[in-house]
Amino acid sequence: MQNYQDTKLFVNGEWRDAIAKETIPVSDPATEEVIGQVAHARSADLDLALEAAEKGFQVWRSISPFDRSKLMRKAADLLRERADKIAVLMTREQGKPLAQSKMEVVGAADTIDWFAEESRRTYGQIIPARSSSIQQMAIKMPVGPVAAFTPWNFPINQIVRKLSAALSAGCSIIVKAPEETPASPAELIRAFADAGIPAGVINLVYGIPAEISEYLIPHRIIRKISFTGSTPVGKHLAALCGKHMKRATMELGGHAPVIICNDADLEKAIEVTSLAKFRNAGQVCVAPTRFLLQDEIADKFIDGFVKAARTIKVGNGLEEGITMGPLANARRITTMEEMIQEAIVAGAELKTGGKRIGNKGHFFEPTVLADVPTSAEIMNDEPFGPVAIVNRFSHFDDAIAEANRLPLGLASYAFTSSVQTAHALSKNVEAGMLTINHNGLAIPEVPFGGIKDSGYGTEGGSEAVQAYLDTRFVSQMN
Ligand code: NAD
Repeated sequence: MQNYQDTKLFVNGEWRDAIAKETIPVSDPATEEVIGQVAHARSADLDLALEAAEKGFQVWRSISPFDRSKLMRKAADLLRERADKIAVLMTREQGKPLAQSKMEVVGAADTIDWFAEESRRTYGQIIPARSSSIQQMAIKMPVGPVAAFTPWNFPINQIVRKLSAALSAGCSIIVKAPEETPASPAELIRAFADAGIPAGVINLVYGIPAEISEYLIPHRIIRKISFTGSTPVGKHLAALCGKHMKRATMELGGHAPVIICNDADLEKAIEVTSLAKFRNAGQVCVAPTRFLLQDEIADKFIDGFVKAARTIKVGNGLEEGITMGPLANARRITTMEEMIQEAIVAGAELKTGGKRIGNKGHFFEPTVLADVPTSAEIMNDEPFGPVAIVNRFSHFDDAIAEANRLPLGLASYAFTSSVQTAHALSKNVEAGMLTINHNGLAIPEVPFGGIKDSGYGTEGGSEAVQAYLDTRFVSQMN
């Protein structure tokens, strides 16, 4: 089997150990064995990264979007060429099945390509003036060096959106990548390094997340923050950004409602939602979570969904035929066990699953809980694991009320064959994203982000680049 590799920091164009030579162990969630080490940055390393990002910004912003775009596309090509090797690293450190890892790498290349092209469309405006001797222009300028903080569930995908948007706008970046899954994101950065990205434009660090964010966010060199993670941490970081007047994009937790109406194509709904629910063992911020089933189809949907859950093959993601890997860390097993138990005590019915599998590796059964009371913790906090909640509703308005009950508003799903219902859903569901009759979320050209406590800003579509640009106004008299 391909060896796992230790991960270094990437600072000012060089792969290097941390100055103090500290490292953090990395383990395989399928075997619980330590498989490698990642360099642990402290403030002295961060100072080097900051200095590099400041210089890198001056270099990168002066390269034309046309040339920036060429370099980005070269990195995307390298990533595609290396996808098989990188996928193995990702599966070993994160656990997801190899095919899902490979899809993530190839998807990242597509994201880079898309943002590379957007770079050439960062248009400003000429604004008609009140006098013929005046020229008024709104021009777009890169905001400056960025600090990005990303989690372990999609080790590459969570970085590539921030990185590509920042590079496309002409910003440099310091990425604080996930310590639990460090090697595959380092390969993303290596693709850019090998494509010839100038020194300092991209810097990669790992360490203690809170220590790094408390250091980077207030720092004068950093002008923009992008964070993906839980809502409590996001609120803490957003407050810090506010205190230091730093622009921020916050992609936080979700608790996606899935409204399935009596007139839905049930077979399709089961197929689409069971795939989406158990992908990456449910550790997905846009995973379907609260299924709201209209009375007439509820039992049939539950039967079909439970059957689909039972066909999932759980095991080491490196093995052929495995469709769900282990949870990424031991914390998730504890959370799953506690949330499921609490829901059952509160009155939920366990339809399938509910337990850890074996005692080596963080494997958990695909789980379905029915008729879960609103008071249960799992109805209110993001489970972030392979658990589907299947509840019922009679009237459309009740489904909307339940969908909107939580302060979260990231993804939402619905199935109906009525155009009127689809239209009413799009007007009334309080979520940053709604996908009806299929799963159409998270491709680079469409918005990706939440509302309410799920955060602000979008990480997809043309608006994603705007988040890394300042608008400057120039009025010039001849
Ligand atoms: P956590 O809340 O401690 O960490 C979540 C992420 O935030 C991690 O990547 C972590 O490194 C980072 N983080 C934590 N404190 C930070 C700080 N002060 N500064 C900068 N970064 C910080 O817990 P966890 O166990 O890793 O994950 C638990 C929950 O986080 C999940 O249940 C889920 O709700 C959420 N989460 C969401 C996403 C997502 O895609 N939106 C990804 C991973 C985790």
